[in-house]
Amino acid sequence: MTNTFMWPFFKTPVPQEPQETAVAEAPLAPALTEVINALPDPALAVDGQGVVVAANAQAAEILEAEPAGRHLSSAIRVPAVLEAVAAAARGEEGASVDYEIRVPVPRSFRAHVSSLGPGKGALLVLRDLTREQQIERMRADFVANASHELRTPLAALSGFLDTIMGAARHDEKAQTKFLGLMRSQADRMRRLIDDLLSLSRIEMNEHLRPSGEVDLVQVAGHVRDVLSGMARDFDCEVVLDGPGSLMVTGSRDELVQVMQNLLENALKYGSSGKRVDITLRRQHDAAELSVRDHGPGIAEEHLPRLTERFYRVNVQESRSRGGTGLGLAIVKHIVNRHRGKLTIVSEPGLGSEFSIRLPLKS
Ligand code: ADP
Repeated sequence: MTNTFMWPFFKTPVPQEPQETAVAEAPLAPALTEVINALPDPALAVDGQGVVVAANAQAAEILEAEPAGRHLSSAIRVPAVLEAVAAAARGEEGASVDYEIRVPVPRSFRAHVSSLGPGKGALLVLRDLTREQQIERMRADFVANASHELRTPLAALSGFLDTIMGAARHDEKAQTKFLGLMRSQADRMRRLIDDLLSLSRIEMNEHLRPSGEVDLVQVAGHVRDVLSGMARDFDCEVVLDGPGSLMVTGSRDELVQVMQNLLENALKYGSSGKRVDITLRRQHDAAELSVRDHGPGIAEEHLPRLTERFYRVNVQESRSRGGTGLGLAIVKHIVNRHRGKLTIVSEPGLGSEFSIRLPLKS
């Protein structure tokens, strides 16, 4: 004998013609409220008069009110949605309607409306599009910003070329001067492209936690040595304080990049304090690295935005120091990939401290 497993629902023989037993099976079919409660998305059902007969918790949350028992128009005051629901309740074909609300905060939704049968009402499933649209807007802004940032040095390069080929054609001194300026614009484009590529590479791998073993103290010492020339140019002392070693799980190259961006910033923007302190310490199950300068500091309103791409407190100052506006965005993404945390503390007039916390190697 063969044993065939069947879901209990299918065990009942399928009747040849409509019989009363078919009606008797109805208790097996869950009630509309149970189906709506089981749906992962915000969902509501309305009757033929437009009164909400069932709504799940997600719908109540998204509408910031308990809609059940009230007319749909008291929860969603959007004529296009109400018309689609009324049409579906009459038995007409369903529709998708995108709409926005302005208060209490601007949000965008998509309402999928389907009929429950002529005169029986309609089912409404909502999707919050706010985050998706924000990401889309950020992506568009990013492309516009990146193009603008690249176009500026490109325009300068074209201008210098015109001068060399035109007015300064026979002027060797002017040519040398303009070639020098072209060099610095080309360098700026290269830095920007390098940073853009770094950012996209790190973002692509952000979900993968790096697995190497890295000594953070060694990384800090290495970067301090690499930037010793820059520190000298800025007439700034870099003091490193920490234990013999501090092992974390990570990517050495990426942690060098973090350290380099933080120290370069401290020198570029905070060298008036004449001293930068790099401190490393063990804090419970984490390694903490901080770079503190004693420069002008950063006003509070800028702090939350510093890690946004292309955000700069002073665009001219950043450009004149070879900045791309991407350094701290790169730092944030690398720290995220390492499952760490970046903290920025600054007090105008006293300097800034950028700290990262990384889980110690287990
Ligand atoms: P940039 O390439 O412009 O240096 P970053 O993303 O590294 O870009 O930094 C963003 C902005 O944050 C800088 O343009 C600067 O205005 C500010 N900033 C970063 N570090 C410091 C610091 N140590 N002191 C003062 N301002 C800083």
